[in-house]
Amino acid sequence: MHHFHGSIEVVCGPMFSGKTEELIRRVKRAQIAKQRVQIFKPAIDVRYDVEDVVSHSSQAIKSEPVENAVEILLKLKDSTRVVAIDEVQFFDDAIITVVSKLAARGYRIICAGLDLDSRAIPFGPMPTLLAMADEVMKIHAICTVCGAPATRSQRLVASKELVVIGESDAYEARCRGHFQADDAEEQGHLPLDAEIRPFTTQFSN
Ligand code: ADP
Ligand code: MG
Repeated sequence: MHHFHGSIEVVCGPMFSGKTEELIRRVKRAQIAKQRVQIFKPAIDVRYDVEDVVSHSSQAIKSEPVENAVEILLKLKDSTRVVAIDEVQFFDDAIITVVSKLAARGYRIICAGLDLDSRAIPFGPMPTLLAMADEVMKIHAICTVCGAPATRSQRLVASKELVVIGESDAYEARCRGHFQADDAEEQGHLPLDAEIRPFTTQFSN
């Protein structure tokens, strides 16, 4: 008797960190292993292409845009073994149920998404997905100011919307030191960093 164990992999990091490249790399290797892969992305993400998942380095792979998480279940084909989901942070919490169901049914799930929004607050379903994952990869971009590893996505244009679909004209990768939280206080959310005073060591002896 064969046992097929499902698994959940999450690739996270800021914009330009190579999440989509990593997703494409994993998908291609699965295809080399002759496993059927289906790639989904939220229909909201049509920055480069309606049908393709495209990286900032112009790598591309065919994908199926979906309006919501449940549509992934509806579009799943019998022969599929691997399910890849890019920009997974844009889905609502139903994605958590969908992903765990698929893993329980034996699918390998590869998710890529932003861990933090432009206020440096955990993005939508990402904290739960990261906690549930069998494997997590957190990758860095390069800070556009100083060249250090970047963990944050700096929004360059003012907006009240949480989701501003844009590219390098709207966002830049930044390290902690060069990141300025996006009008977070105005929106009633304090970025987690803002509550922490700069750390100074004090010796009391
Ligand atoms: P993500 O999906 O995480 O936004 P992509 O996989 O689409 O990232 O793109 C990663 C690529 O973006 C890199 O390989 C590099 O060619 C390019 N790039 C542009 N700006 C930066 C930056 N500031 N830091 C790192 N890579 C960058
Ligand atoms: Mg991407």
